[in-house]
Amino acid sequence: MSQRGTGGNRRVERCVFCGKSARDVARLIAGPPGIYICNECIELCYSIITEDEALRGETPDGDSIFPRDIPSPRALYDEVNRYVIGQEEAKRTLSVAVHMHYRRLQYQAKAGADDVEIDKSNILLVGPTGSGKTLLARTLARSLDVPFAIGDATTLTEAGYVGEDVENLLLKLLMAADFDLAKAEVGIVFIDEIDKIGKATQNVSITRDVSGEGVQQALLKMLEGTVANIPPQGGRKHPEQQFIQMNTRNILFICGGAFNGLEDIIAERLNRKRVGFRSDAAPEAEQYDPDDPLRRSELLRQVEVGDLLKYGMIPEFIGRLPVLTALGPLSDEEMVRVLSEPRNALVKQYQEFFKMDGKKLEFTEAALVQIARRARERGTGARGLRSIIEALMRDVLFEMPEAKDIRQYVVTEEMVRHLDLPPDERPSAIQVSEPKPLAPAARKKKSPKPPPEQKDSA
Ligand code: ADP
Repeated sequence: MSQRGTGGNRRVERCVFCGKSARDVARLIAGPPGIYICNECIELCYSIITEDEALRGETPDGDSIFPRDIPSPRALYDEVNRYVIGQEEAKRTLSVAVHMHYRRLQYQAKAGADDVEIDKSNILLVGPTGSGKTLLARTLARSLDVPFAIGDATTLTEAGYVGEDVENLLLKLLMAADFDLAKAEVGIVFIDEIDKIGKATQNVSITRDVSGEGVQQALLKMLEGTVANIPPQGGRKHPEQQFIQMNTRNILFICGGAFNGLEDIIAERLNRKRVGFRSDAAPEAEQYDPDDPLRRSELLRQVEVGDLLKYGMIPEFIGRLPVLTALGPLSDEEMVRVLSEPRNALVKQYQEFFKMDGKKLEFTEAALVQIARRARERGTGARGLRSIIEALMRDVLFEMPEAKDIRQYVVTEEMVRHLDLPPDERPSAIQVSEPKPLAPAARKKKSPKPPPEQKDSA
């Protein structure tokens, strides 16, 4: 099908679009006699077509690239509620913002040149680690059935350096869309640790040796909307292509950051305001105390753009993330709920696993509280819960397959308290065995036949 120029031929085969000969391009593909097109023109045509499709909101098959029925903010909220505990303010704000984003895309696909242009609203989530920022973004993407990718701002480096370049984030999104470019272009990208990269003052990250302007500028462009060139590592559809061109204009970016110490800035502002309003100056006891954990989420909820600028974020960044909402640290009570309430709660998952073996697993209320407490002390929010539960279950799971007569396990507070002891000193789960471990029929089946040599000797 494709041929390279031979030099000696009388008629040099050329691309009918650009006129280049086989010698000038990587590949020349033949059509009807005498008609050729080169790989470069195919690439160009492909990007024109996908651009048009994206504008019309359609995939190459004519399917809508947007969620068919964009769920209402309440429907989104209800779905998120099945997975995310607490964080009411953030759940509501995000449900509305994400709904609006996709409505905007729908509108844009139908709007004429003279219609009002609605700006895109990327989102900034402020909240401590393990408070549910990623979970919230992921759950929303799943509810809308749009591709979703996660990146970490601290690992981003300028192209050519060790680390991940900004375009790699988009490649992840493309992979999540199964290499359907039109779908990827309306996906959601979550970028964590954004507080580390956007700082005006030089930050102290040692992992990001080549931080600097380049990454910031690339990120800023991506947030706003640009046509990015993505190296298609593993790209199946375009094996010949050097780069895939992805337009980020309609991608929703949700950025997250812990912004440690932001509470102090908010508290300072609020205290100042109080003092300013009262001629008699607020007494010490009435002032906001950012060290009080209960106050922390209350303070974060009152975050304003000015606080983030004061924190050191560069204004261009904040300007491109117009929707701002905060998540507070989870209370012990909320952590207990995280353990047992969501559809995929850890406790439910393990219970299901035990059920497969015909066994029952229970956690006492006091054990759950103790697990929550331990996780909080680690300072990694709900993230710490998994490793504690896993450590607890390890001993039980190690013994379980052999302990056939045990039908029920109860994880107690005692077990959680003594988790740090050596394995042989740790209390085991209270085990409740059944009076009749196996049905007689099952026993009969399992009884082995007499070995042949026994017959011989008889
Ligand atoms: P963040 O992005 O804020 O650091 P994640 O969303 O990654 O935190 O949370 C880590 C894990 O902790 C999640 O996968 C989830 O299991 C659990 N988790 C955290 N916050 C919540 C929450 N509010 N509700 C339910 N689970 C949560």
